[in-house]
Amino acid sequence: MENKVYLFDTTLRDGQQTTGVNFSVSDKMTIADALNEIGIDYIEGGWPGANPTDDQFFNKNIKLSNSTLTAFGMTRRPNKSAANDPGLNTLINTKVSSICIFGKSSLFQVKEALGINQDENLKMIRESVLEIKNKNKEAIFDAEHFFDGYKLDKAYAIKCIKSAYDSGARWIVLCDTNGGTLPEEIHKIVKEVVEIIPGKNLGIHAHNDTDNAVANSLAAVNAGVRHIQGTINGLGERCGNANLISLIPTLLFKTSFDINIKKENIKLLTKVSKILNEILNIPQSKQAPYVGEYAFSHKGGVHASAVEKNPTTYEHINPELVGNSRNVIISDQAGKSNLLNQLRKMSIDLEEDQIKHILRIIKQKESEGFSYDTALASFEVLVRKELNQIKDYYLLQRFKVTDERRWNARGQLITESEATVDVFVDKEERMTVGIGNGPVNAIDSALRKALISFYPTLDNLKLTDYKVMILSPEKGTGAITRVLIESVDSNKIHWTTIGVSPNIIDASYNAIYDSITYKLFHDLNHNSEKK
Ligand SMILES: [Zn+2]
Repeated sequence: MENKVYLFDTTLRDGQQTTGVNFSVSDKMTIADALNEIGIDYIEGGWPGANPTDDQFFNKNIKLSNSTLTAFGMTRRPNKSAANDPGLNTLINTKVSSICIFGKSSLFQVKEALGINQDENLKMIRESVLEIKNKNKEAIFDAEHFFDGYKLDKAYAIKCIKSAYDSGARWIVLCDTNGGTLPEEIHKIVKEVVEIIPGKNLGIHAHNDTDNAVANSLAAVNAGVRHIQGTINGLGERCGNANLISLIPTLLFKTSFDINIKKENIKLLTKVSKILNEILNIPQSKQAPYVGEYAFSHKGGVHASAVEKNPTTYEHINPELVGNSRNVIISDQAGKSNLLNQLRKMSIDLEEDQIKHILRIIKQKESEGFSYDTALASFEVLVRKELNQIKDYYLLQRFKVTDERRWNARGQLITESEATVDVFVDKEERMTVGIGNGPVNAIDSALRKALISFYPTLDNLKLTDYKVMILSPEKGTGAITRVLIESVDSNKIHWTTIGVSPNIIDASYNAIYDSITYKLFHDLNHNSEKK
């Protein structure tokens, strides 16, 4: 049996149906280009005729070097001729060579949702596929609700997909539309279906409602299908679709199946995953398999030192294969090997006694409530300051913040913060005032005003996330606050800094100070490798 599995991305269609997702034409172009660069076999661009964005996208006459662009739609409407069905015609008349239509394959759905005669549904499938074939285009049939329909009425579900296959559909895609089927059932049912329709013409479209979409896709391939539909990062309505970012390396590195994606292109997966998140403006999932920041992170002295000796002790694949990297976490329990690994990433070479010195400082800081697990930028500032590699870019004389709740002129109750900062830069004194929706925001704004003429690149520094955690000190002298601030600059490079103090404003200021220092150090040293 043929070993090649074809990959079909439906991010631009099924992913688009996710609550809160609305791709623009240029978003769609960016995503399609990224998928084409990797070498996905099919890219489903959307549903022409369903909305103006998809119409514009398909009107662009896009040429892709690796992927086949596919248009999505549905079978002809009941009791109409396929040749005169406006929806089907719009679809067939788009400038793409491959058309994917969905139709019912569950008797329950035919009766309940469509309310039509079961033979008419079979005719709709047959005539729609034939119409596509008559126009010399490739036809793909998505058998909606196939698994549920098969469990209900096996004979009818098979009749539906046979109608499509016998009419010349290149692929019959078995859909677990409601996402409730489990891997064993998928395997068993597909095994039965491949006795009727060859696996080389069958595909799987799995939704993730039991968190099994990837497992279901693999089960279907193991049972004989040779086409998988899924999305980048598993984006999709409800709980999402099968995640191609996990499936691609799994197929390539862990099974004997073949795919059309070259090994060296697998390195682009981390980037593609990030591109989608940037378009959606959501943070990258840290725990995402293969591509998440934590996918190859090691915490704890024993794990970290074992990984130093031989990475395969705690890693299932080499992170570089998927464009990710190993990240050994600095922590209280971690020993020297963690530190060395982190220093190596920052290209810092130290003598043995310097290493001991830094290690002592980190332990001390950790006992005060600092945690450098994620605040790697603060860690870098700390080490470089110890080594005199970073100077003070400014000296704070004082800051003062006041908060006021009052009725404004329009009769609304508002709370506003005002901060005054007094700083020296190169022996020049600056005093500025900033207003903010909170004290941290006000200090940040006053500080930038004071520094911007000396350091213009601070203009593109943005604080994107602010997290506060109250630590209970063991000796009960009052709560300690730990603040984590995430920053980003115009190069879309993110970094995290930390501040610790019994005073929340003080802790926040310290984290802002580290963030500014980190940015200026890298900007002024023309070093683009930030983390
Ligand atoms: Zn779907």
